[in-house]
Amino acid sequence: MGKTRLSPPDFKERTRALPIKAMGAVPEVVLPLLQHTGAPCGPEVAAGDNVKAGTLIARSKEYVSAPIHSSVSGSVKAIEEKPHPILGRYKAIVIASDGRDEQDSSIQDRKDTASLSADEIRKIIRDCGIVGLGGAAFPTHIKLKPPKEKPIDTFILNAAECEPFLTADHRLMLEKPERIIEGMLIAMKVLGVKRAIIAIEENKPDAIEVMKKIVDNDSIKVVSLKSFYPQGAEKQLIKTILRREVPPGGLPFDVGCVVNNVATCFAIYEAVYKNKPLYERVITVSGKIVKNPGNILVRVGTKVGDIIEFCGGLSEEAAKVIVGGPMMGIAQYTLEVPVIKGTSGIIVFGKSQVKAPLSQACIRCGRCIEVCPMGLNPSAIAQAIEKGRFDLAEEYNVLDCVECGICSYVCPGNRDIVGLVKLAKQKLKNKERK
Ligand code: SF4
Ligand code: SF4
Repeated sequence: MGKTRLSPPDFKERTRALPIKAMGAVPEVVLPLLQHTGAPCGPEVAAGDNVKAGTLIARSKEYVSAPIHSSVSGSVKAIEEKPHPILGRYKAIVIASDGRDEQDSSIQDRKDTASLSADEIRKIIRDCGIVGLGGAAFPTHIKLKPPKEKPIDTFILNAAECEPFLTADHRLMLEKPERIIEGMLIAMKVLGVKRAIIAIEENKPDAIEVMKKIVDNDSIKVVSLKSFYPQGAEKQLIKTILRREVPPGGLPFDVGCVVNNVATCFAIYEAVYKNKPLYERVITVSGKIVKNPGNILVRVGTKVGDIIEFCGGLSEEAAKVIVGGPMMGIAQYTLEVPVIKGTSGIIVFGKSQVKAPLSQACIRCGRCIEVCPMGLNPSAIAQAIEKGRFDLAEEYNVLDCVECGICSYVCPGNRDIVGLVKLAKQKLKNKERK
């Protein structure tokens, strides 16, 4: 791990006290066929078909995938390429709302949850399209089925929410704590795990108190963590809490634990108790120039521009719009881009808040090495990638980079190291497929 812990200011004061506000259905949603880690979905509907909120509209036969559901009631307008917040452009199902906002009849309270087997619960979670909502959007049914030879002894509820600006998980803990805990208990049951740790950064004392009131005993502990970035990165969290090191290229499974975040556990609760697919989520909309920032419950597929308008618009022209947090999120080229399942926030910066141009030359100051939480040499990795030496970048363990962005943050040249890392990962993934 890097020797220096350096945290950017958290900028959470603008939204941390604001209750979650529901935006409701919008006139049109855009639902990309790939919103998760894994195989893309194929459409199960055609233009002109009628759907309701929660109707299955796309799926894949592949195991590593997650089905997609409509987030409004209305009709399928088109299936065509549209802006995508991560992939640039991607095929999407466009649905025009009928304004009635009716739910699919399959969404109903399930009474006999206690009798469900682990396999039945995993199937419900899969059918409801639940994925990790911390950003990576890895299908949850797979995370809850570790290989038999890797026994799990600890479940970690990741409630760190260490990215600056983001407060959606914090609000969810204050407003829906019991449901989050229920979701966590379901995950523990599926994994056959008796011990859980609820990990919350100390900058959320009210959430720590609320969670402790509901559950704090020998088997489920609420722990208060130092606030620093990226405390919430899975491997960092495991190291802090359990003093276990996930090996290079390894997963939490390898050291006996599974980590899920707050919003994912809430989604698990909704899937199992209500049979409700993942078609809406809470995001934080913030930044100095957003007139009415907030924590907003939005339908998946809602366009960023519509959400900014719902938040009162901007006080000046946007210089940069990021989907996700400012450290790990991705700058967008259009406000037509939709919120997808893994979107945790929308952060808008004016001209005065945007740093100088990216990718100046490395002056070998070593600051990035000092702060990298994974103990990598970001400077060497970036230089290898710039020379097209992806083999060398792999030797330098580029695949262990958690894309936290702290190296770029401290770099005096403001070098886009994460952008280079993403490129290398993509190249190495393609090489693997060949
Ligand atoms: S983005 Fe990757 S290389 Fe940079 S500090 Fe984070 S883990 Fe290290
Ligand atoms: S912080 Fe930037 S300039 Fe300094 S060594 Fe790292 S990449 Fe080079």
